[in-house]
Amino acid sequence: MPNLDQTHDRSLRSWIESANEPDCDFPIQNLPLGVFRRRGSSDPPGIGVAIGQSIFDVPGAVQANLLAGISPETACALCAPSLNQFMSQGRESCSTARQSISHLLQADTPTLRDNAELRERMVVSRADAELLIPVQIGDYTDFYASIHHARNIGSMFRPDNPLLPNYKHLPVGYHGRASSIVISGTAIRRPYGQAKADDAQLPTFGPSKLLDYELEMGFFVGPGNGLGHRIAMREAPEHIFGMVIVNDWSARDIQKWEYQPLGPFNAKNFATTISPWVVTLDALEPYRVADAARGEGSGGDPPLREYLKPTDDMGYDITVEVYLTSQLMRDRELEPMLISRGNFTEMYWTIAQLLVHHTASGCNLRPGDLLASGTVSGRTEDSRGCLMERTWRGQNPIQLPDGSNRKFLQDGDEVIIRAYCHKDGAARIGFGDCRGVILPAG
Ligand code: CA
Repeated sequence: MPNLDQTHDRSLRSWIESANEPDCDFPIQNLPLGVFRRRGSSDPPGIGVAIGQSIFDVPGAVQANLLAGISPETACALCAPSLNQFMSQGRESCSTARQSISHLLQADTPTLRDNAELRERMVVSRADAELLIPVQIGDYTDFYASIHHARNIGSMFRPDNPLLPNYKHLPVGYHGRASSIVISGTAIRRPYGQAKADDAQLPTFGPSKLLDYELEMGFFVGPGNGLGHRIAMREAPEHIFGMVIVNDWSARDIQKWEYQPLGPFNAKNFATTISPWVVTLDALEPYRVADAARGEGSGGDPPLREYLKPTDDMGYDITVEVYLTSQLMRDRELEPMLISRGNFTEMYWTIAQLLVHHTASGCNLRPGDLLASGTVSGRTEDSRGCLMERTWRGQNPIQLPDGSNRKFLQDGDEVIIRAYCHKDGAARIGFGDCRGVILPAG
């Protein structure tokens, strides 16, 4: 059962009016963390909390002694230029800070509401802010946790044997590249690479022709584990700080030629985009559900090794959507087109299992490491999380409202991924946008 407290109360309202709009991603029940600076200023970057159309300046509030109940260590961590130090402190300090910030922003708390000077200092319009990568990401790992995605991709290459024998026993992953992780809104340069047509004798080298997105959810590691130590399943929630949307840009032609025997390399290392606001596990608590996709004994699932057995519900009910807009659509002011809609509960492995399996060897995870789920694909055609699956390798192109069609991404295309949680009895919360425009190869 979810552990809910006063911060989740659906009836809570903020004195920041834009947070009370019905479809707002950032109501007072969400309070996701990011790092920002005032646009055009030379201010050092600082931690902020998204609230409605505004950002609450956290170090400003710490310096004015407005955050009741937080420890001196937490106060210090909240004044850092990235979230790593705060992430290292674990769930309890995160929950305390959440309660304190929630109280300050509630409609019936006068401290800031009735003090124009303080409010001016601590509430910044999102339009006036530049959002930065919120975490110094030391390491990035990408998994393959959707069985529908694995089956679809597998069946294109191995029609008789789509799912490899290990799939239902361990979460398959690979070590990704942290240096090329960029914040939503960063343009993506079409990569160069090697590709080889099946009937060609030699590979070619040039701009990728089969550029794709992958809709994923990622999570940041909290305190983490020492080298040689494992994280047990029951400890996993303490080590997961919060989640973001991830777009694992992928060059399919490069991938096809290079991936054997060691997995993807240049096909994926040129860029990965994340959404700017980290939605904490506390905020997601009303949406924590049974991990429904995998059930021992059902659907032919084999028994799990003991270390991967769930000790609590760790599924998350998150709706995920991909939109596409071409340069021509933007020129004609056409709305972005919905390409797919799925749900994170369809994943075969939970984020807790990804984390625990990563440390099973004694590999140390550090605060701020990013672990991504792999493409989130559901059972149906319209819930497939990449173009490779959505157009079935280009066999079923998507018709865009500008009259063109898409097998893979063209220069000028913008991919917009959105994610949100909603259900009766809880406040709707969202992740904001994760977007990027494709630039021609340089
Ligand atoms: Ca991926």
